[in-house]
Amino acid sequence: MDVGGDVVGLSRHITDHVLQRGARRSSLCCAVDLLLNAGGPAAIGTTRCPICGRTITVRIGDGAVELVSPSGAVVSAQETTGRDGHREICCEGSTILDSEDCLRMWQRSHAGILSVVEPLEEYARRCCDPGFRRGDPVPPASP
Ligand SMILES: [Zn+2]
Ligand SMILES: [Zn+2]
Repeated sequence: MDVGGDVVGLSRHITDHVLQRGARRSSLCCAVDLLLNAGGPAAIGTTRCPICGRTITVRIGDGAVELVSPSGAVVSAQETTGRDGHREICCEGSTILDSEDCLRMWQRSHAGILSVVEPLEEYARRCCDPGFRRGDPVPPASP
């Protein structure tokens, strides 16, 4: 299995969140971590909707999301505020859902968790801002 390297969110275990970059296949900690790799070379990310199990595919590269299938997929990211008022992404509460219906189901079972819901393109763009790295301090989200 893949270890080390420049892939963000690399898991030490096999997961459903797979980043395929050329011949290299990496398991990531959560679905949202796929988007945090959009700043790197072109890659294909695949994950599963945690509600219905449908496969979600995303093509990333050059700091952007180029293609999402199905097109209605959304990010629900649990972002916590660190001690300095900076945002951090919590893997356990962060996922990608394939539809509005599944998003509603997810939100029902994660009530009370403050989450950012955004299209994949938007989320990747925000994460690819210069200086942003997973777990690193970033400016607060605009209201
Ligand atoms: Zn679903
Ligand atoms: Zn994660």
